[in-house]
Amino acid sequence: MQVYADNAATTKPRPAALETYVATATGTFGNPSSLHTPGQRAKEVLEDARARVARALNAEPREIYFTSGGSEADNQAIVSAARAGARKNKRRIVSTAIEHHAVLHTLKKLEEEGFEIVLLPVSPAGIVDVKEAEKAIGADTCLVSVMLANNEIGTIQPVKEIAALCKARGVLFHTDAVQAVGHLPVDVKDIGCDYLALSAHKFGGVRGTGALYCRAGAPIFPLIEGGAQEKNRRAGTEDLPAIAAMAAALDEAVARLPEATKKTQALRDMLIAGLEKVPHCALNGDRTRRLAGNVSFCFEGIEGESLLLLLDEAGIAASSGSACTSGSLDPSHVLLAIGRVHDVAHGSLRLTLNEDNTEEEVRYMIEKIPETVNYLRGMSPVWRDLQTGKRQYIL
Ligand SMILES: *Cc1c(COP(=O)(O)O)cnc(C)c1O
Repeated sequence: MQVYADNAATTKPRPAALETYVATATGTFGNPSSLHTPGQRAKEVLEDARARVARALNAEPREIYFTSGGSEADNQAIVSAARAGARKNKRRIVSTAIEHHAVLHTLKKLEEEGFEIVLLPVSPAGIVDVKEAEKAIGADTCLVSVMLANNEIGTIQPVKEIAALCKARGVLFHTDAVQAVGHLPVDVKDIGCDYLALSAHKFGGVRGTGALYCRAGAPIFPLIEGGAQEKNRRAGTEDLPAIAAMAAALDEAVARLPEATKKTQALRDMLIAGLEKVPHCALNGDRTRRLAGNVSFCFEGIEGESLLLLLDEAGIAASSGSACTSGSLDPSHVLLAIGRVHDVAHGSLRLTLNEDNTEEEVRYMIEKIPETVNYLRGMSPVWRDLQTGKRQYIL
């Protein structure tokens, strides 16, 4: 059996998105900046996509800027707010220890340029404490950036409460909503954010396309210089087929949201219940305040990488953390932030489901994963030490 359980890394494009992609690439190949009829038809498709993305987020079309994906949108929001802050001598940026690298590495770069970066801790359940955020925001703060939902452990953050604190203090607020859009109801007015990043390939669109919501009036500067596309905020000929496909994917994701959430959540809870029977393991992240498709565990005494390879041989495509950290030997910064010690963090497994997964697949995983964990433990010197009492169990 082949099971794809890595939807947080990327999703299979929806048929509606691929049909739109091909129809746009063949039928509307003009450059939206051209004045002739094919160009103007392309421009209409572009603006229709913008209006649909805006509607899905309860934003205005003029507040949507198309980008090459979630990473670019995160970079642009953060760099824009930092630049506006520097002009007012406000150089402190508050974020969290569990952000995606698109945020963390952008902040690291700004730190090297003289900004003060404060990363808020999270609770053992993987949730940011609003009171900690309140304490960290000062008169010198230009931006607070807190993700809406975490990509590794699926936890949903109190962004609305933190955005309200920011608003009251005249501080800009950005949220990386890449894991949330298309998976949770997302309303920029309800959240009260100034910026929000999304990415098409995380909700059934195609890769290399995303968007930045920037509230009308909030500072926004281009990262890429060139032509006047996107009101001079993002140069480069628009990837119209991918943008139209993103709008189609988002429309479908939003329309199917209640039904898809219900189905995915039931599969998630079934999988969690099955895997919890493995001795000396722990679920990562809050049990209920988590994305409908996220299952993340640590299994003591094994290496997550070995587990992944054996599961792949059994036809199960999973992840040990974020796609960006796998391949490196450092344990996940997110698992360390929720208090997992290095050895335990190394034994992690992330399974991310969506409504295309089936109960049969979940049953197969509930059979294969414990079997593979047992097999690896049988060969593990660490596990032997735990069993003989030479070492103390942590989980
Ligand atoms: C995938 C992801 C990104 C990056 O999006 P890309 O479109 O792949 O650049 C950023 N943040 C989070 C939380 C993600 O899951």
